[in-house]
Amino acid sequence: MNEPLVARMREFGTTIFAEMTGLAVRTGSINLGQGFPDTDGPAAMLERAVEAIRGGLNQYPPGPGLPELRQAVAEHRKQHYGLVYDPDGEVLVTVGATEALAASVLALCEPGDEVIVFEPYYDSYAAAIALAGAVRRPVTLRPVGERFTFDPAELRAAVGPRTRAIMVNSPHNPTGTVFTRDELSLIAAVCQEHDLIAISDEVYEHLTFDGVEHIPLATLPGMRERTVMISSAGKTFSVTGWKTGWVCAPADLVSAVQSVKQFLTFTAGGPWQVAAAYALREELGWVAALRDSLAAKRDRLMAGLSAAGFGVYRPAGTYFVQTDIRPLGFTDGAELARRLPELAGVVAVPTQVFYDRTELGRHFLRFAFCKKDEIIDEAVARLARLGERTA
Ligand code: PMP
Ligand code: GLN
Repeated sequence: MNEPLVARMREFGTTIFAEMTGLAVRTGSINLGQGFPDTDGPAAMLERAVEAIRGGLNQYPPGPGLPELRQAVAEHRKQHYGLVYDPDGEVLVTVGATEALAASVLALCEPGDEVIVFEPYYDSYAAAIALAGAVRRPVTLRPVGERFTFDPAELRAAVGPRTRAIMVNSPHNPTGTVFTRDELSLIAAVCQEHDLIAISDEVYEHLTFDGVEHIPLATLPGMRERTVMISSAGKTFSVTGWKTGWVCAPADLVSAVQSVKQFLTFTAGGPWQVAAAYALREELGWVAALRDSLAAKRDRLMAGLSAAGFGVYRPAGTYFVQTDIRPLGFTDGAELARRLPELAGVVAVPTQVFYDRTELGRHFLRFAFCKKDEIIDEAVARLARLGERTA
């Protein structure tokens, strides 16, 4: 048989997260690659899911999601951001943010339409755009001092007659950048001048540090009407395996996304929805403590990586520290990521896989810090050997 996989998916292979976790398991290395916490979410929330299963919530929930969760999402948006969404028609529950992103692109982009993405971009963006037959137009985030940002002229130059949408991710995986109001205003201006839809991935909305504030794109003037706002329970409540996400947008956009979503999965798992609704209402104090603990873990990992000889960028949000491997004498992050288990017993993610222009990210390696302190300490002790090796 010829290659069975459709041509538009052939460039993607296996996701880097599965590949790197597989490498960690095979080699017994410490996994600072895939971003998932190694501690549980709030106990009472976990209990709600168990109770829901025992209580018989085991059949299909309604397609748009359980009313309880849609209501809790709408209340959360209003309380935190002053954004008002009608839980009936402007909120849609999805199977994680991943389904929300894919369904949005599939619903809103025709084949041949162009979608702007900030590279390095989360890997599923490129695949969703390819599935839709659309074309991605990258705008590069480059380091300026300790943080990554974009050149406004490059953003403007990326817009053309076929541009339909822009995918925005703040706080940003993998750079840790949290867009400022000025950066978001530039994005908003471009969207409004060219009548673009913004698909805004805010899964790390609560995980910002040093008092940096997450500003949802939809709160900027003129943006609520054209923004598909996406988040999920995975990062906020340390349950990445629950795959429970949500979309908030004006009714016409939500209805379009739901038209696609209903044929991808029809609906999302019920017990997780009940538990996420509870957590959005009752566990934001727990989330504040998580944020503080993650800020300390970030500092711990950054200090260890600097001591080991990496160039280190300071993330204002997310789970990830971006590093430059060149001070250690390496040049290719993909090659180093493959050798890191043997060199140091640690796994990380080569950032270059998140670029169209791979060469721009060749020297970056991403490390996750959503891990127990003793794991971080052991990982940096092992990584210290890299410096000794090149010394
Ligand atoms: N967007 C970004 C930026 C992510 O890092 C992730 C991974 N958690 C997702 C989307 C996917 O979220 P979920 O697990 O809820 O599908
Ligand atoms: N979001 C997580 C990361 O960036 C992992 C997602 C996944 O495994 N697909 O590491």
